[in-house]
Parts: sequence; structure tokens; C-alpha cells
Amino acid sequence: MAITIAIASGKGGTGKTTIAANLAVALAKFGKKVAVLDADIAMANLELIMGLEGKPITLNDVLAGKADIRDAIYEGPEGVLVIPAGISLEKFRRAKPEKLEEVLKAIHDLVEILIIDCPAGIGKETLIAISSADGLIVVVNPEISSISDALKIIAITKRLGTEILGAIVNRVSNESTELGVKAIETILEVPVIGVVPEDPHVRKAAAFGTPLVIMYPDSPAAQAIMEIAAKLIGVK
Ligand code: ADP
Ligand code: MG
Repeated sequence: MAITIAIASGKGGTGKTTIAANLAVALAKFGKKVAVLDADIAMANLELIMGLEGKPITLNDVLAGKADIRDAIYEGPEGVLVIPAGISLEKFRRAKPEKLEEVLKAIHDLVEILIIDCPAGIGKETLIAISSADGLIVVVNPEISSISDALKIIAITKRLGTEILGAIVNRVSNESTELGVKAIETILEVPVIGVVPEDPHVRKAAAFGTPLVIMYPDSPAAQAIMEIAAKLIGVK
């Protein structure tokens, strides 16, 4: 049975997909069998970061009852299994998000760790992902609007009875206007398990469709994500 981790934030653009994709590859680099699923079925872009765009059968086909989940799983970088949602609007329109729970169960036996890249907001896919997951990682930026949205995700996660593994503060550039890590921990009342700096390598790697931790392993953001992965699985 896989340990399932949902990556959510409430707010859009905090770096959920970047963290989900690179954390999956980082965990695989440490020898874990990992899958990463794109639960952002409307604005799917996990497949772009993983270099797997344009696959014929996607999660949205499965959620529409038109395909078997086994046909929507693709092997990506470092052997990570990727379940892309697909960018077709037509297929998204037909997808039934309530089928997501059963899809997640079907992936359980294939890997040790399943990472779910959630959409922004608190829609059906996010709620199903969080309630099905063993743990939540909330991705925040060091600014108040992001923290405010994260508080909602944390409250919902508590209500659903899912463990909160902690927060990742992404895009930190240590400007004086930013909220500090201590302040973020105090407001969210959850531990910060990693701090990922603002790093231009993130965009460069995304443009190439190669995960950052593979393309620029020595970049500050890649190193921070590798550290988070090591911490999650207890590697010293
Ligand atoms: P989300 O999935 O939360 O909407 P993304 O992972 O798609 O967020 O990231 C949003 C944008 O921010 C992307 O253009 C991505 O390249 C950029 N980004 C994310 N994290 C960083 C970072 N640490 N440094 C620089 N740019 C980043
Ligand atoms: Mg995203």
C-alpha cells in the first residue's frame, strides 16, 4: 500500500506542481517507487514539467469512464509513474471528479509513495485528494494572501481527519517585505518542513520539460527539494 501525500495550497501559483513533480523525482532518486498524479484536471500542467505532454490516454479519460487507469500511467524521469490529466477541454468536460477516489485506490498497489498535485481552491478534486491521502503538504509563499488560503486548507484537512505533514515555504527571496518562517509557523500552527528559494532555474527547467532536480541538481531550489525528500523518508 502506498503512502499518499496530497500537495495543496488553496491559492493558485504557489508552486504546487513544481514541488509535486520534483519531490516525486527526488524521492525516486532516493530509491523509492513513486507515482505522481495530476488532480488539477482543469488546468493540467504536471505533464509539461515531467516532459510527458500529449499522451493519448489521460486521467480525464479514466474519470469519464472511457479508459482504464492502467492505460493512463506513464513512466517518467527516474522511473516515476506519472498520471497526467491531459489538456483537452472536451475530455475535461466529460470527466467525473467523484471517480477520483476509486482511481487513487487503484494506484495504491503499484508504488510506495503516491503524490497528488492538487488544483487551487477547495473544489471536489482537492477534497477527494485530501480525504484519500495519508498526509497533506501545504505549499505557501511568504505573503499574507497565500498564508490566509493555506489556513483554509489546513482547517479542511483537520476536519477530514488527514494528517498534516507540514508546510513548504516556496519562492523565498529574503526580502524585508516577506513573512519569515517563524511567523508562518506561528500563524499556520504547522511545522515548516522545507524552505525553497526563488530560483530562476525552476522556470528554465520547466521550459525544457525536464524536472529541476534532474536538469539543475545543484541549483538552490533543487537542493532544497532534495532535502525535503530526504527528511520525509528519514534519510540522513
Ligand atoms: P501551482 O501548481 O501552485 O499553480 P506552479 O508549480 O505551476 O504553481 O508554479 C507557478 C509558477 O511559479 C511557474 O511559472 C513556476 O515555474 C514558478 N515557480 C515555482 N516555484 C518557483 C521557485 N522556487 N522559483 C522560481 N519560480 C518558481
Ligand atoms: Mg499546479
